[in-house]
Amino acid sequence: SIVVTGATGRLGRLVVDALLADGIAPARIVAVVRDKAKAADLAERGVDLRVADYDRPETLADAFQAGDRVLLVSGSEVGRRVPQHAAVISAAKAAGVAQLAYTGILGGPEADFELAAEHQVTERLILDSGLPYTLLRNGWYTENYTDQLAPVLEHGAVVANAGQGRVASAARADYAAAAAAVLTQEGHLGQVYELSGDTAWSLAEYAAEVSRRSGKAVAYRNVPAEAHLAVLTGAGVPEPFAAILVDVDKAIERGRLARTDGDLSRLIGRPTTPLADTVAQALERL
Ligand code: NDP
Repeated sequence: SIVVTGATGRLGRLVVDALLADGIAPARIVAVVRDKAKAADLAERGVDLRVADYDRPETLADAFQAGDRVLLVSGSEVGRRVPQHAAVISAAKAAGVAQLAYTGILGGPEADFELAAEHQVTERLILDSGLPYTLLRNGWYTENYTDQLAPVLEHGAVVANAGQGRVASAARADYAAAAAAVLTQEGHLGQVYELSGDTAWSLAEYAAEVSRRSGKAVAYRNVPAEAHLAVLTGAGVPEPFAAILVDVDKAIERGRLARTDGDLSRLIGRPTTPLADTVAQALERL
């Protein structure tokens, strides 16, 4: 089977969609979920469900079978992910899966920002496990920005501390299509992919694009790190996560999320989704 963890998440759902669109029979797809109720739509489409929680290793024992091709979608609980991922990797190893693909971070061991640390340890655990692996080092999702369009339009400002740094983002669906590709095609074992958008853009360019599409004045306001932290916590972002976002912006200023290796468009066989398209779609949904 082709097994997708985090299948009720935003990326995982898109991976299942991409597998079905690639013509994989629903009965060959397994969605590993922690909440079956959240996966009712997947079950309706004929996808097999297995219930497991990264936090409860005993539940992972039945999540995988010998010969499965598995996508481990990295967990969303920053700070807890090393033991969680370790539990998934050892369950995959015990089952004897044929492939473990993992969604890491662009740059892998060279990503010198806080958010990368858990991905780096996870990659090491995967290599040490001896499992056949594929590393999908994901760059930034464009939706990280467009999900914030409502407050951006309200304040007429994109507030960040990324300076003139550029971001080679792509749509979540692009990364999902790449994951589906490595799970269904041959030739991806032992491979490491640096996945990012074809074009790197600056936050000033992003603000200009939002302005042009929405007809409202929106400017990029580059502020010191402490000021950005205050804006984020003031908007209700918990302090530890706000600090991680501020740290990511500093990394963006250093160019860490700007690389355009082209691995993503090569894997999906088409250009990545342009920034303008994701902005337009997000504006339509507002
Ligand atoms: P989501 O938060 O939408 O999905 C995360 C998925 O992980 C959910 O399905 C969630 O299950 C599952 N999950 C979390 N904790 C556990 C657990 N303890 N046991 C089992 N499943 C668990 O994130 P996205 O789909 O948008 O992104 C996927 C991953 O990519 C994130 O988890 C994060 O690691 C990373 N990420 C990357 C970004 C980027 O720009 N490259 C930005 C943000 C995140 P449930 O549905 O039950 O909640």
